[in-house]
Amino acid sequence: MVKENILNIKKRIADICSRVNQAPEGITIVAVAKGRTAEQINEVIQAGITDIGENKVQEAMLKHSSVRRTPYAVQPKWHMVGHLQTNKVKEALRIFDLIQSVDSLHLAQEIDKQAAKINKIQDILIQVNTSGETTKFGLKPDGVIEFIKEITKFKNINIKGLMTIAPIADSPEKTRSCFRLLKDLSNIIKNLRLETCDLRLLSMGMTDDFQVAIEEGSNMIRLGRAIFENTD
Ligand SMILES: *Cc1c(COP(=O)(O)O)cnc(C)c1O
Repeated sequence: MVKENILNIKKRIADICSRVNQAPEGITIVAVAKGRTAEQINEVIQAGITDIGENKVQEAMLKHSSVRRTPYAVQPKWHMVGHLQTNKVKEALRIFDLIQSVDSLHLAQEIDKQAAKINKIQDILIQVNTSGETTKFGLKPDGVIEFIKEITKFKNINIKGLMTIAPIADSPEKTRSCFRLLKDLSNIIKNLRLETCDLRLLSMGMTDDFQVAIEEGSNMIRLGRAIFENTD
């Protein structure tokens, strides 16, 4: 099923991309594997997925070490997509290639400090709350530029882009304004031409709204149900 789902998703991505004149290869699919098993992760890797997302450090560590035992020619990249507590940073740094959920100075500081200890430059995305929902994590859009100026000082952090989670909406169109906001914000920041800040990634779009997200300029979509569940 996973294999068919992925083929199906890739076809949909190709369709959207041809409509909006984008290259489908430019869009990274992150398989969000929270609640799924290491076997399921191995299945998606075998179906050609190169990026795995998790939202809890402990759960991710177990599966990471299990998946690692399979001698893939290229090991997948691991993404932290859930809220990260500062007391989990040290462990998170050992397994995650990209931390997508940086949303406070305190957290960024801790990542920088722990990364320095192990000589790692940690790639991160800044999570932005584009919907204004109080239940969502993420920085307010109007605080992002100041935040970036602060954290570009940190030597062991590399800001790769922005991430957002759209609200659950009864129609995907309702999420469009959130995606547009993130894209606009990214462009504004790029135009500031800050040193050590190369915003390439726009992580937006999940199972219910990835088509709209791609139309609005996403180049990284995070899919759980579309990959792991029967969506017919
Ligand atoms: C669970 C999760 C996803 C995937 O959600 P689906 O709707 O199953 O595609 C994407 N991003 C984050 C941050 C998640 O927690």
